[in-house]
Amino acid sequence: MTELEWEECDDPRALVLHMSNRNPRPPWGFYIPGSEFRWLVNERKRRLIGTACCARFEHLLPPAARDLLHSSWRVADYALGAQLTLPPRPGFFRRQFQSRCTVWAIEAVCHLAPLDLLALIEDVQRAVIAETSESVAWGEEMATQAQIVRCVVGNPFLRTHFDRAWATDTAKTLAQQMYDSREFGAMPILADALQDAGCENDDILAHCRDPHATHVRGCWVCDLVLGKA
Ligand SMILES: [Zn+2]
Repeated sequence: MTELEWEECDDPRALVLHMSNRNPRPPWGFYIPGSEFRWLVNERKRRLIGTACCARFEHLLPPAARDLLHSSWRVADYALGAQLTLPPRPGFFRRQFQSRCTVWAIEAVCHLAPLDLLALIEDVQRAVIAETSESVAWGEEMATQAQIVRCVVGNPFLRTHFDRAWATDTAKTLAQQMYDSREFGAMPILADALQDAGCENDDILAHCRDPHATHVRGCWVCDLVLGKA
């Protein structure tokens, strides 16, 4: 996958594959032939991508699955010691719920470390297909999930320089509020704050100001401001 293909791709699975060493030519050179499966983004970022994709259909979930989803956000930040409340035994949710969608959704949310993001995204897709009518713009949903991946990962072909002096108190407060609330309407204001502090990086400012962007917790620009891995 080239940089242009990464930017224009509307299939989140293709982007996820590119981040894994299933991709024969990963851009960062992490791949060691014969080594264990390695990802080019860390577990936290992968869980934030997966949880954000699941949250796209939160309204379809029963309370038990919604609780798991909320736990998954916290697991990503190690707030729960990387533990989710798992189903007590295999097939438990299948007996609890009639809807196959619900079972898939719950199982998607339950994926634990090492989180198989590709399997999770495919579970999410099956769940959304099963629960939505054909009138749903399926291509749009996939494109949005691809945007989620790009928002969290950034540009894997480029190592962005971030000067800590740009992370002023104003910028950090804005980023933390968006991180906590998962509401990202203030991204253009964050761009202004970064620019006021001397940031002229086009990638950072364009990501904040893109009117069509979808931002989620773990957004690479907010993570840089907050000093998160
Ligand atoms: Zn973003």
